[in-house]
Amino acid sequence: PYDMLIVGGGPAGAAAAIYAARKGIRTGLVAERFGGQVMDTVGIENFISVPYTEGPKLSASLEQHVRQYGVDIITEQRVAKLTRADQVELDLVSGAKLKSRAVVLATGARWRELNVPGEAEYRTKGVAYCPHCDGPFFKGKKVAVIGGGNSGIEAAIDLAGIVEHVTVVEFADTLRADEVLQKKARSLPNVDIILNAQTTEVIGDGSKVVGLAYKDRSSGEVKQLELAGIFVQIGLVPNTEWLKESDISLTRFGEIEIDAKGATSMPGVFAAGDATTVPFKQIIISMGSGATAALGAFDYLIRTSV
Ligand code: FAD
Repeated sequence: PYDMLIVGGGPAGAAAAIYAARKGIRTGLVAERFGGQVMDTVGIENFISVPYTEGPKLSASLEQHVRQYGVDIITEQRVAKLTRADQVELDLVSGAKLKSRAVVLATGARWRELNVPGEAEYRTKGVAYCPHCDGPFFKGKKVAVIGGGNSGIEAAIDLAGIVEHVTVVEFADTLRADEVLQKKARSLPNVDIILNAQTTEVIGDGSKVVGLAYKDRSSGEVKQLELAGIFVQIGLVPNTEWLKESDISLTRFGEIEIDAKGATSMPGVFAAGDATTVPFKQIIISMGSGATAALGAFDYLIRTSV
């Protein structure tokens, strides 16, 4: 059995593993795919002290750094179930069982996709999911934001200060964002809002996005917008479906509820990164919360007997 077992090999899991192993305790890390969302990222310009890097390169350094500490890394394994007896027990999809005195959950999240033609093909070639990350790549260009909830309208306001023009495309006949955000967005001269519009296709020229097609749901007419970027803002889904049967408290959005030390509602179980209630989902924030959760879990371990 481990002293500390980390579930997830993204920035949060990697940081937690390093902080745990540096305490000289038996540390393991189990992940489906090392690197997590970072593996799907091309340019990264906001990882402080590194002006520019790329996802696969950052993932490789994360893994190298974790390996330096002799952490037992188990990849290509998915955890299916968490229970607690005298220790925390994890059941893997493969049938194996792992036990640990403390666990850090860092299973991250995934952006909800539109599932329309062209989206997958032009991902990172104009189709983007993170305005904080990719906004500056569209400086002076026209973009669309799909989704009129809080994240969509926040993205539109944010992008309006960087890009030439933003069109918000919302499926429903009203925006769901808070009134104060709607008011701000409507006051901006370079933001347009289209309601009742179902995005049907991402249009590209073979190498990058050049527009999108949407169906006007009141007339049925298909229309096109010319643009360089499409920010899909229809939800970030935490990878916590497998925890629903456990006794760990999740919010109604599926985020793992944690306190300031990363503790969840279950003794000995801590959590970090995009899978949790930590505000703002970013690499540097996930790493910080991974370190916090590992230190919180270490605090727990030194207070409990073996
Ligand atoms: P993740 O990176 O999602 O990692 C989750 C880990 O858990 C993975 O190893 C996964 O395989 C594993 N896992 C999940 N479920 C299970 C399970 N049941 N069993 C075992 N393992 C499991 N942020 C920035 O700061 N700057 C950027 O430029 C930037 N660009 C981005 C571009 C894209 C396209 C995307 C998608 C995200 C971007 N982000 C960026 C956001 C950033 O990648 C995330 O905030 C960060 O990766 C979250 O880290 P995490 O460790 O919490 O989770």
